[in-house]
Amino acid sequence: MKFTTALLMLASLTPLLQANQSKGNPNIIVILGDDIGWGDIGCYGATRIKTPHIDGLARDGLRFTDAHASAAVCTPTRYSTLTGQYSWRRNAPGLNKGVANADSPLLIPTDMETLPKILQQAGYRTGAIGKWHLGFGLSKPDYNQDLRPGPLEIGFDEFFGFPATNDRVPTVYVRDHRVINLDPADPIAYSYEKPPAGSPLSRFVASRNRIGWMSGGKAARWKDEELADTLTHEAVSFIEHNQESPFFLYFAPHDAHAPTIPHQRFKGRTGLGGRADMVEELDWSVGEILRTLDRLKLADETLVIFSSDNGASKAKEQNHRPNGPYRGVKSQLWEGGHRVPFIARWPGYITPGASSSLIGLVDLPATAAAIVSVELSDGAAPDSFNILPDLLGKPNPNPRDHLVVMSGKGDLAILQGPWKYIPDLSVADGWSSWSKKAPHRNATKLIGAGLYNLAEDPGENTNLAGENPETVQRLVTLLDSVQSNPTTRSPRP
Ligand code: CA
Repeated sequence: MKFTTALLMLASLTPLLQANQSKGNPNIIVILGDDIGWGDIGCYGATRIKTPHIDGLARDGLRFTDAHASAAVCTPTRYSTLTGQYSWRRNAPGLNKGVANADSPLLIPTDMETLPKILQQAGYRTGAIGKWHLGFGLSKPDYNQDLRPGPLEIGFDEFFGFPATNDRVPTVYVRDHRVINLDPADPIAYSYEKPPAGSPLSRFVASRNRIGWMSGGKAARWKDEELADTLTHEAVSFIEHNQESPFFLYFAPHDAHAPTIPHQRFKGRTGLGGRADMVEELDWSVGEILRTLDRLKLADETLVIFSSDNGASKAKEQNHRPNGPYRGVKSQLWEGGHRVPFIARWPGYITPGASSSLIGLVDLPATAAAIVSVELSDGAAPDSFNILPDLLGKPNPNPRDHLVVMSGKGDLAILQGPWKYIPDLSVADGWSSWSKKAPHRNATKLIGAGLYNLAEDPGENTNLAGENPETVQRLVTLLDSVQSNPTTRSPRP
């Protein structure tokens, strides 16, 4: 680090560090919704879906308008959020393409620096509650046995949640290393390959068609309509029993991922269907977390971040645009796939307002390290930028200059300034069908490279690649450099 840069950073952090010395490090809660689009939230423009608690967070905090998941699907974004590394740097299914099934081994190496480990070093109690989707064990996990290594081996003191997605078998809860309420006389069997005729393995669990087949574990299975209540209760309980120490809660609700089965309390509330009702259910969960902080008088010493792991899976519902003005849906390289809501509230530190800084969920590890003054080791969180100055409304001496995003099929695009470069438009739709789901139906087959000026054309309608060869070349070179260098963090460790 240059001496002047170091001085600048020190100057910008000094008031914070002084405050921390008197108040201690803040609790940190990251709430990561599932498939929640940029436009699903009231403070981002939704009118048909009511999200008063999330809107309240934005009213008292900072709302980012150019925040991105590192991928347009679940597993790779969650990997990057917890490790600060672009997932496609690892050659593993679920990281460089697609998402993990529940038969995946643990995808985060146990010797890797992680967001929860950074905070453990600073004396935090750490908990992960909700969707995991990052695998268990060293090979295909046996859900009747210890699920080790898992969240506890990559930095969490506590884990409660479910293995993969709410539409994937096995549909059971795991606490720490074990499936809970499992009757040994009714062991869990599961497969993601079609079983032979006559097998007891079934795709239908609780009358819903799932991804994969399972049998057994009947006493351990969750009820879809109770998922939000159960996960929220666990999150509130985690805060309650860790209120005396600084804590880090990674709360990953299943809302609003398919199958869209909200609790009866929320069913039909929006008139837009189950997915939209689940967004209101998620807002309720956020409200319960905030209410708990108020009740325990922890709100003033807690940084709360709300975001989503990728864009919404639908482009349009009646009078509602889940991904706001942005083109495309989950899994796609278009903005609707990866531009997500991102709100941060930290009373007394974060000045309420909006920020157009380019940030990524991959930035959380380096930012957390800066908050608690832990120095990242060489090579740790290699793609993670410290965005604490952005949160605090101060000039960032090392701002994120560009960001790489990945589709559900593992293809990349790069964002820099107003520009978005997609090297191969023929794969920009990820695994989603463009013609069925896109708001701007486009009969023309997309070919070649795409260059869009997002400041002037947020809907990515006009390809400017042909008339801007120099910008294209610059972004080709930049993307090559990001791919060929093991780190993008500046200053490099
Ligand atoms: Ca997701």
